[in-house]
Amino acid sequence: MSDRLANRRQKLLRVVKRLGVDALLVSGETNVSWLTGFTGDSTWLLLGPKVCLLVSDGRYETQIAEECPDLDVVIRKPEVKLHEAAGMSVQSAGIGCLGFESHVLTWAAVDDLQSAVPKVDFRPVSGQVEELRAIKDVEEIAEIRAAVDVAIRGFQVIRAMLTPEMTELHIAHELEQTMRRFGAEGTSFETIVAANDRAALAHYRPSRMPIGDCSMLLIDWGANTAGRYKSDLTRVLLFGKPTKKLVKVYETVREAQQRAIRAIRPGVTCEEVDTQARGYIREQGYGRRFGHGLGHGIGLDIHEMPRLAPNSQTVLRPGMVVTVEPGVYLPDWGGVRIEDDVLVTRDGAEVLSQALPSDIEAMLVD
Ligand code: ZN
Ligand code: ZN
Repeated sequence: MSDRLANRRQKLLRVVKRLGVDALLVSGETNVSWLTGFTGDSTWLLLGPKVCLLVSDGRYETQIAEECPDLDVVIRKPEVKLHEAAGMSVQSAGIGCLGFESHVLTWAAVDDLQSAVPKVDFRPVSGQVEELRAIKDVEEIAEIRAAVDVAIRGFQVIRAMLTPEMTELHIAHELEQTMRRFGAEGTSFETIVAANDRAALAHYRPSRMPIGDCSMLLIDWGANTAGRYKSDLTRVLLFGKPTKKLVKVYETVREAQQRAIRAIRPGVTCEEVDTQARGYIREQGYGRRFGHGLGHGIGLDIHEMPRLAPNSQTVLRPGMVVTVEPGVYLPDWGGVRIEDDVLVTRDGAEVLSQALPSDIEAMLVD
């Protein structure tokens, strides 16, 4: 494990050198965790060719000793603020030019930090650790696979339990409990369970309304593994005989998703993949009804790099894991989104969630 972490820090060191700074102050919680194995918060990592140091506080002394035995640590006293302790470490490491994560720290925090070490030259650095995190190693891919598998098992159990009396919230809670029973550490985000017209709302919170005799039920859910890797899936269950309109919308979204997945391979830009789905949905007359990006990376965070979206020029590389989730939403009617988790392989793509089919027949519930 520590070899893997040291390897990640080596990769970041190469970036630090390329950026021409003496060290990078990593303050993003997930970034620190990915680089060190530490799972707490309020802790920064100072990393440069001559320094590799965690700055934390007394609450985490034991945990850091256990999780990061081979790292130097500064435990600040309660009266010393985090930016002051970090400033002191920057000073004693003799750093003249310091990179900081400008997309993570607030303006106020940077200001505090600068006044702690007024002679240091500060350089904003953005998204560098995230870029490294986008490529998953073998163990990370295994974790995501496990997160996908447990989510699928949970869904299958829930699906068999559904009754018209169940509320959306009840279904969400049952799904979470079932995934926990199968070994998940909870959900990877707040589960969405949305019946009929509620499925048209992108960030819907499950309500206390019974699903009743709904014709469509959208469930967007994911599991968290003990290692904190995440899955993210969406299926729409169809009850009774679907109307022509529902069939048309469903088949449009599904075909858009299949086209996008077929386009995924190393060397292709994220925008090109997005265009495959978006172009098809537009051709079918629903262009204005697909108002979000096609997908996003998953890993320790539920939204990671890369982004599958228009204007996203990131080039896909082996080891990236992305969701592919086109949708068509019609206000006051409902919505269909189909979401799978896809690994970019050496020569194409592997759908990690293929054990859960999404063709329309598989979604019919009598
Ligand atoms: Zn989702
Ligand atoms: Zn998603």
